[in-house]
Amino acid sequence: MDFKDYIRVVPDFPQPGISFKDITTLLKNGEVYRKAIEELKTMVSDLKIDVIAGPEARGFVVGAPLAYALGVGFTPIRKSGKLPYETIEVGYDLEYGKDRLAMHTDAIEKGQNVLIADDLLATGGTISTSVNLIRQLGGNVVGAAFMIELADLNGRSKLDGIDVFTLMKYE
Ligand code: 5GP
Repeated sequence: MDFKDYIRVVPDFPQPGISFKDITTLLKNGEVYRKAIEELKTMVSDLKIDVIAGPEARGFVVGAPLAYALGVGFTPIRKSGKLPYETIEVGYDLEYGKDRLAMHTDAIEKGQNVLIADDLLATGGTISTSVNLIRQLGGNVVGAAFMIELADLNGRSKLDGIDVFTLMKYE
C-alpha cells in the first residue's frame, strides 16, 4: 500500500509557500490508519520501549494507538498552560512561528526508554524540544517515529544518534 495516496497536499496552508501534508484523509480510512500504525509498530519492534511520548495534537493520533498496539504507556507533550500538574517547559521555533512545549514532571521515570511519535518531521524543532524535555526528566530517548518526513528540511540532523522511523518521505 502506498500511504501517500491517502495524504492530501494543501498548497499555501497555513501561509503562502507552505505545502501542508494533511493526514486527516488517511486517518478517516480505518483500514489505512490501522495499517499505518501496524507498519510503525513493525519498524520499532526491535526497540525496548517503556513509554511513548507524543506532542500535541497530531502526535496523539500517532503515538496513542502505537502505544496501545505495543502495550506500553503514552504520555502527552503539550503546549504551555494545558497540563494541570507541575510541569517543565522548553521554548522552540516552529517551521512557521514560535511556541513552548511542556511535560508533567512525573511523566517519565528516570531511566525509562521513551519513543517519541508525531505525524510529521519537518525542521525537527518540535522533536528536538521533545527530546530535551524527556532528557531533563531522566528519560532515555530510544527512537522517533513519524508518518511523514519532509526530507529537504533535514530534521534528522537535529536528532543525531536517535533512530528515526518514517512511513513516507516528501522531498
Ligand atoms: P518541525 O518542528 O519538525 O519543524 O515541524 C513538525 C511539527 O509541525 C509537527 O508537530 C507537525 O504536526 C507540524 N507540521 C508542520 N508541517 C506540517 C505539515 O505539512 N503537515 C502536518 N500534518 N503537520 C505539519
